[in-house]
Amino acid sequence: MFNNNLEISQLSTLENIKLTFQTELENYNELVDAGFILHGHVCPAMPLGLRAALEALKKLDVPRARNKELHVLMENGPAHAALCFSEGVQLGTSATIGKGEMTRTNKGKNAFVLIEKSTGKSIRVSIKYEFFEKIMQSEFVMKRKAGVEPYEIDQKLPEKMIQNMLNAPVDSIFEFGEIMKTDLSQAKGTFNYHQCSSCLEPVYEPGIRIRDGKYLCIDCAE
Ligand SMILES: [Zn+2]
Ligand SMILES: [Zn+2]
Repeated sequence: MFNNNLEISQLSTLENIKLTFQTELENYNELVDAGFILHGHVCPAMPLGLRAALEALKKLDVPRARNKELHVLMENGPAHAALCFSEGVQLGTSATIGKGEMTRTNKGKNAFVLIEKSTGKSIRVSIKYEFFEKIMQSEFVMKRKAGVEPYEIDQKLPEKMIQNMLNAPVDSIFEFGEIMKTDLSQAKGTFNYHQCSSCLEPVYEPGIRIRDGKYLCIDCAE
């Protein structure tokens, strides 16, 4: 399933890696392979994000982005296991950080809101707690916790998890919110800023905390 010995010549055209821009799950394996070329190692979190993205596209009834049709508010980060989830979501939606179409909201959850920009219709996807726990107790995660880097782990471990994820019923893995309207202007970069009254540095509003009526940056507010 995963070929880590790809020659450069094999990557010379998109046609050669048979990457199709569709949302059907039959293309999942091709997308997974393409994703691991970008990602650098085989892990379960990247394909989990990919499947979440493809399922979200289906629910929202929108195709993968060609230009900048979609935006993702990615809730994971800033520092925890399985950040690789967001790589798969970029791959699945083509709403990439490179195109400025993914914003990290740093809520410590492998969840995201997918938004169609022209209409504002959106859907939130999160991982079911039971499924999350199963992954956290897996042999792969145990090795990661013990400090083994993903590339050093026998690839059979994540490959088995990935196949299980592919075959599991979608509703046993993900929770989908109602289709809503999301005003993306809220997620646009703000020009509003204040001066932190402790370190005196300029801080944009999302980084401002108010303590005793004073504006503080996150570091000074802690
Ligand atoms: Zn990874
Ligand atoms: Zn400060």
